[in-house]
Amino acid sequence: MIAEQLKHFWSELKPFNATLIPVSKTMPNEKIIEAYEAGNRIFGENKVQELISKQVELPDDIEWHYIGHLQSNKVKYIAPFVSMIHAVDSLKLLNTINKEGIKNNRVIKCLLQMHIASEESKFGLTADGILEIINNADWANLTHVNVVGLMGMATFTENKEQVREEFKKLAGIKKKLSGQVLPANVKMSELSMGMTNDYKLALEEGTTMVRIGTAIFGPRACMIDG
Ligand SMILES: *Cc1c(COP(=O)(O)O)cnc(C)c1O
Repeated sequence: MIAEQLKHFWSELKPFNATLIPVSKTMPNEKIIEAYEAGNRIFGENKVQELISKQVELPDDIEWHYIGHLQSNKVKYIAPFVSMIHAVDSLKLLNTINKEGIKNNRVIKCLLQMHIASEESKFGLTADGILEIINNADWANLTHVNVVGLMGMATFTENKEQVREEFKKLAGIKKKLSGQVLPANVKMSELSMGMTNDYKLALEEGTTMVRIGTAIFGPRACMIDG
């Protein structure tokens, strides 16, 4: 089941050149191993405690993507191993990731999260907030972060046109930034958008990373996603 779903997504994403980030949050290690044995090495998690316990128990060659809201005081727990932090939503958080990157002697890949949904509960920066960070952060000293693109979550709605417009907005900011001179440690190569219910629209709007949980691992027992 998991193996078949992975194969399905890999072939569906291939023409779009997009990366599959299977989201294993709340899933037991057995399911992660099943996906690992099917050849998958990338997993997305959204809780620090859960991620660190999985990381010690599971194979070392897994690339862990942290996709949830991250508090600055918890960066230290994941900085030693995390592959990418998808939801950076403040300069303070970026500075902390840099500091922990220095301590661990590694450069940590990050995405800036933009708030594109109409729901207030979803985190993220405004377009101006993103420009503000890119134009005004002390990039010369941010030696241990690499901002590689943007991330966003669309509104949870059946209204496809609304979701498409939200994805377009995010893709538009990426395009705009790609056309300007950026600091050396900022690149606009990735766009992390699209989940089980809206990844097809995200692919049409230029996503490079889709974060899929339910369609690969089945429903989560606890639907409170944090
Ligand atoms: C849970 C989660 C996903 C995956 O959601 P599904 O609807 O199960 O595919 C993607 N992105 C983030 C940030 C999540 O928290």
